[in-house]
Amino acid sequence: MSTQTEYSFFDAVSASFDKAAKFTAWDPGILEQIKQCNSVYRMFFPVRIGDKIEVIKAYRVQHSHHKTPCKGGIRFATSVNLDEVMALAALMTYKCAIVNVPFGGAKGGINIDPKKYTPYELEKITRRYTHELIKKNFIGPGTDVPAPDYGTGEREMSWILDTYMSMRPGEIDGLGCVTGKPVSQGGVRGRREATGLGVFYGIKEICSMPDLMQKAGLDTGIKGKRVIVQGLGNVGYHAAKFFREGGAIIVGLAEFEGAIYNPTGLNEEEVVKHRKKEGTILNFPGAENILYSADALERECDILIPAALENVINGENASRIKAKIIGEAANGPLTPDADEIFIKKGVLVVPDMYLNAGGVTVSYFEWLKNLSHVRYGRMEKRFTENQNSIILEQIEQLTGKQVRAAERQLIMHGADEADLVYSGLEETMIGATREIIDVWKSNPEIPDMRTAAYVVAINKVGTSYSELGIFP
Ligand code: GLU
Repeated sequence: MSTQTEYSFFDAVSASFDKAAKFTAWDPGILEQIKQCNSVYRMFFPVRIGDKIEVIKAYRVQHSHHKTPCKGGIRFATSVNLDEVMALAALMTYKCAIVNVPFGGAKGGINIDPKKYTPYELEKITRRYTHELIKKNFIGPGTDVPAPDYGTGEREMSWILDTYMSMRPGEIDGLGCVTGKPVSQGGVRGRREATGLGVFYGIKEICSMPDLMQKAGLDTGIKGKRVIVQGLGNVGYHAAKFFREGGAIIVGLAEFEGAIYNPTGLNEEEVVKHRKKEGTILNFPGAENILYSADALERECDILIPAALENVINGENASRIKAKIIGEAANGPLTPDADEIFIKKGVLVVPDMYLNAGGVTVSYFEWLKNLSHVRYGRMEKRFTENQNSIILEQIEQLTGKQVRAAERQLIMHGADEADLVYSGLEETMIGATREIIDVWKSNPEIPDMRTAAYVVAINKVGTSYSELGIFP
């Protein structure tokens, strides 16, 4: 195993790719083209912070143009470097392919610690970054569409949108230049919780498969499963929420300052409130403190959800992990060494590029909404409700019985935007799960679910290259 400093995330993604490529029939040239990052843009720009001028280093990488626009988040973190952005852009290509989102993969990053800047300074940095992207044609509804990632959210997306719109006035589809926007600025309902919800839908589907559960030594279903979540950001928080609401027990929550553990269950909402008030996750009433956060990953649980950063489970700690299922909500939380250990231990690793694809799936719904200039459900909601009302009346007349008020409401309800986004996401996650599992089962040589997911992705990207006539 390489040491932390030598570790290359892009090499890790390439290693997983190569492992899977052997199970496909594509020409080596096509495989090479799929693997490479097509366009890499590294920039430096000056921003006045207080009385000093700071030179900011940032990136945007477009991994694949087999479909356009390119798509992927923008991260603000001090860990941002070219290798990381390239790896994350590549994962976006495979992720989009798996969930049938017709985009190429991209990723961006600014090497800053967002906590060190005021909102005003962050706005200046974000706007200047957007200018740089516009200048080089690295942003636009038909070319490259950023979104939130680690350290960014709706606020940053609305700054990006505003900068873009002011530079491209009158562009009719301009709203589609970025996703993850606030609903008031052209965002879509359900985008905020989409990644965490997708993680839940994916794991729920996995847990409904009797053969997989038998192998893992677990009962089917989510109910009663003990879950540890690492990271209480947007993804981890919502994943914890949906697991708890689905009947799982959140036994552990980890943040960078420490972790807490309670075998009888934690409520993520209470924990977030406590953290806001006390400035730390530690000392939560009724829970045990774990001072070294990474130790939380090794505690007793059925499902472990790393939802923070890459490389947190590696050759060093993987053998001590007790979870039977690991759901990669973050991008790249496991190194290839960890994968090998889990294959030997029989731990089911549910891979990032499929499991956390809920975010980009709903980003796709947002982009479609922006291009169509109409809210989901606007045209059909009332029509459905009127139809349902006629059907109900007829049933009541024919049977002579009255439907109860609560059921009446459920039956009458026409789908609104949130309903449609949730069901579109659920359908996407269930479909992707089954497709990957089918490929995995079709070839006993495929060692793990990650490799099966890569096989699915490579086949789809390869096919679309041949459909474009680029490769006969
Ligand atoms: N940053 C998210 C991801 O890694 C979302 C990307 C998007 O919505 O474009 O999948």
